[in-house]
Amino acid sequence: MNLSPHFTLEEMIKSQSGDRAGIDNLPLPPHREALRALCLHVLEPIRECFGVVIVNSGYRGPELNRMVGGAASSQHCLGEAADIEIPGMANGDLARWIEAHLEYDQLILECYKPGIPSSGWVHVSYKSLKPNRKQELTATVVNGKMTYTPGIAK
Ligand SMILES: [Zn+2]
Repeated sequence: MNLSPHFTLEEMIKSQSGDRAGIDNLPLPPHREALRALCLHVLEPIRECFGVVIVNSGYRGPELNRMVGGAASSQHCLGEAADIEIPGMANGDLARWIEAHLEYDQLILECYKPGIPSSGWVHVSYKSLKPNRKQELTATVVNGKMTYTPGIAK
């Protein structure tokens, strides 16, 4: 089932951990519509510019989210967020491109190590029913704990 011209529901709900645990991870209709808005307004423009977007994690139902230790308030659980990468492109560069070109709610450069282009990933969310906050953060692990600082780190 296509959510937008180049993104399917299947790739937005896929989880290898979920598959292994036998979790079907199917979104309710409002969450499916939120995924569609995320695809249309964020993922499609990125794909149009770079030709490909890899979705590492999109929707997480409550069961899957608990299993992967996600925050209960995670926008992944609402279908509003995806963790993405582009092969061959530094995740820091991807985050800065999104910051410069797109409307989004929250943009987080996660676990990125400058100098190691493939390290980390980009978390991006989009709200279709409420105003988008346009908030940028960088997340790094400090003493075993995910720590957030404002802005996209250079
Ligand atoms: Zn995420």
